[in-house]
Formats: sequence, C-alpha cells, structure tokens
Amino acid sequence: MQINFWNKQIETASRDEINDIQLQRLKKIVGHALKSEFYKKKFYKAGIETPEDVKTLEDIQKFPFTTKNDLRQNYPTGLLASDFDDVVRIHSSSGTTGVPTVIYLSAEDMDCWTELVARSLVATGCTKSDIFQNMMTYGLFTGGLGLHYGAERVGMAVLPIGGGNTIRQVKYMQDFKTTTLHITPSYLLHIHGKLDEFNTKIEDLNLKRAITGAEPHTEQTRKKLEELYNMPCYNSYGLSEMNGPGVAFECVYRNGMHIWEDGFIAEIIDPETGQVLPDGEKGELVLTNLTRTAMPLIRYRTRDLCHIYDSDCPCGRTHRRLSRIMGRTDDMMIINGVNVFPSQIEEVVMNIPEVGTNFQIVLAKSGAIDKVIVKVEIYSKMFSGDASQLDSLNKRICEELKASIFVNPAVQIHEPGTLPTFEGKAKRVIDMREEI
Ligand code: AMP
Ligand code: ZN
Repeated sequence: MQINFWNKQIETASRDEINDIQLQRLKKIVGHALKSEFYKKKFYKAGIETPEDVKTLEDIQKFPFTTKNDLRQNYPTGLLASDFDDVVRIHSSSGTTGVPTVIYLSAEDMDCWTELVARSLVATGCTKSDIFQNMMTYGLFTGGLGLHYGAERVGMAVLPIGGGNTIRQVKYMQDFKTTTLHITPSYLLHIHGKLDEFNTKIEDLNLKRAITGAEPHTEQTRKKLEELYNMPCYNSYGLSEMNGPGVAFECVYRNGMHIWEDGFIAEIIDPETGQVLPDGEKGELVLTNLTRTAMPLIRYRTRDLCHIYDSDCPCGRTHRRLSRIMGRTDDMMIINGVNVFPSQIEEVVMNIPEVGTNFQIVLAKSGAIDKVIVKVEIYSKMFSGDASQLDSLNKRICEELKASIFVNPAVQIHEPGTLPTFEGKAKRVIDMREEI
C-alpha cells in the first residue's frame, strides 16, 4: 500500500514528542483563553489564574467543561480572545434552537487549520494530480470552505461547486474527470440513484475516492457506498467549534480516524458523570483546540459518542484513532422507555441488500404508546416482484430491526426516489410525538 505523508515528522512523532507538544501548546492556549471574558471568569472559579497552573497534561482535568450552551449564552463576542483586527474569518451556525454560535479565526489559525486539512487529504492518498469536487455547502457552515483551502494547499485542482444541482454535479464529474469527491454520505447515496436517469455509468467517471463526513453514518452505509461506486470512502470528522473538518481523518487503511493530536487534545468522558474514561471505552468526545488563538475552546463537550482505539495503525502515523461516531448524546430516541439510536436502525436497514439508498425514521404516538415507523426505499427491480415477496421483505426488515432495537417497528416499503433527499446534512428522524 502506498503511504504518503504531508508532514511526516509530526505525523509519526513518538508518544513522548506528542505529549511534549501538547503540554507546551496547552499552556500557551490557556494563556490566550484567559484573555476572553468568558474563560477569565470560568477559570477563576476553578482556581486557575495563569498558564503556569498547568504543569502536566493530566492537569487538563482541573479545567471545567465548555458546552454549546456556553457559546450560545456568550454570543457574539464573549469567547473572543484576540483583538477584532486580528480576526480574518467568522463562522456561525444557527443550530436547531435558532440561537447562533460563532467561531473566530485569525490568519495564523486559518493556516493551522489548512495544514491539518492538507495533511488529512494526503493521508487518504490525495496528491496534486487529483481533481477535487467539493460538494459540501459553502458559507457559514465550515464543511465547504474548510476542505477547500487544504485541498488547494495540496495542489489539487479544486472545483468549489458546493452542494445540490445533481445533474450539474455529474456533468462536471465527467467533464473535469473528477477523482475525489467531498460529500455527505446521504447525498452520495442519493446521487447513485440518479445516474441511470442521466445515462451515466460509474465506469464513465474517473472517481478514485470520496471523502465523506459531516453527518453520522454506519459502517454498513460505507460498505454500500464503496460497492455502489467501486471506490474507497474515507470518513472525515470535524465540527465548527473545532474549526470544522480536519479534526480526525481516516488514512488509506480506513480503520478509524487519526485525531491530529498536535492540534487537539481528545478525551472520552462518561456523559453522565463527566469522568474521563480509558482508551477503548465508549463515551462522549471532549476536545481542546490547541492552536486557535482568536477563540480557544478548552474541554469542549462535542456530544458525539465514540471511543479511541489504542492499537497502532499500519500506516505508521502515531496519532491515535477515533472510532466511527456511534451517535450523539442528544440524538438518542426514547421509544416506550427503550433507548434507541438512529445509527442502530441505519445499521440494520443498510445491511439488507434489497434496501436501496434512502430511509427515514418517523416517531408518532398512538394513544399513550410510541410508534416507530421505518420507511425504506428499495431497488426498483424489487417492485417487479409479486406482493408476497414485498410482504416477506417487510417482515424480514421488521424482525431484524426488532432484534436490534428491542422495539416493534412498523416498516413501510417505498419506491426509489420517493423519500425526502438532502444535499447537505440529512435529517433522518421526524419526531411527531409532541405535535399530536
Ligand atoms: P457542524 O458543526 O455543523 O459541522 O456539525 C458537527 C457535527 O456533525 C459533529 O459534532 C458530529 O455530530 C457531526 N459529524 C461531523 N462529521 C461526522 C462524521 N464523520 N461522522 C459522524 N458525525 C459527524
Ligand atoms: Zn493510519
């Protein structure tokens, strides 16, 4: 296997070297954080007054957590730690409650982010000879712009097309012989269903790989995508609070995402108690951005559930790997008292060969009882079968779901292309329980 590095020295640094970089950078970033109104107060309450209070890496556990709510309550400038003149980029997200959060970056912060993205892309095998079609939304959302600059730094030819307009996307893939897509997994699934309509075959395209991220997806979905497109799909993780994409990325081995530990300190905590868990145990990811000076975030609770692998990666990178995101502390559904994550349902349906490229979960109430309705699209060839075939498929999906989620679902089978589609992040769960 061909293994390329962007910054081999850092990517393969020894554990001692990584610890050393982290400690120096943690001290420095705490110093910056103390310049913001928010952290000055917060750290003071926790008894931390100067960066000198950080003596070892374990001292990070003395710091209180930072939450999304902190960002909302201190909108717009409460967490700004530098002079506004030094800010060169502002990203903001409105979130579901409508109260915005904001992230500020200085020129140096932009440079650090770009370096991490360039490193991430090279880890997937990208080179300056690649044609990069960036199908993520540009704008305040960090997905589009985040990868854009890193891809340019690698020297790739970047097509900043953004999300949507599927027919144009496919035309450009053909015209420019695109090799690398950056796209949400749900949109990549959706496009496959459209290729027939555009008289395009995978063999007509020059695709070598897809960088897929921005939303939760299971290993089954990756497998399906890789089979449909006959190319590897690399998981890319990031969140706007930590700049955006480029926090953790898969290498050519696709066995978990290397967290760039010179840029971030990653901890896994028990979301109930806040206690730090050892590698291998599943919990909530907490991240500290070690380089963003305009707006440092210390011990930010991502709400993403995952674990850290403690095994080595054959690629030679020493930065530990993050598992796939298994859900969020806030996307757990409670169905008649049973805890169910959307990813459990996705895992089952995407593993059934007859199921096509789209599904939706609807929660409703029938009297006092919660109902879960799983709507799945199936491949068109299945519709030519007789009704009893569809019945038995329906039954099979029901049984497999029940065995996994311990709740009796109703399954609805739909024709391809009939369920709602998304060009950005997919919204898979519709909860109508409060509306009724
Ligand atoms: P945003 O700040 O809008 O970019 O959203 C960030 C969130 O998207 C993360 O906290 C995750 O919940 C989700 N996300 C991003 N990348 C991935 C990924 N590769 N797998 C699963 N979830 C992801
Ligand atoms: Zn690796």
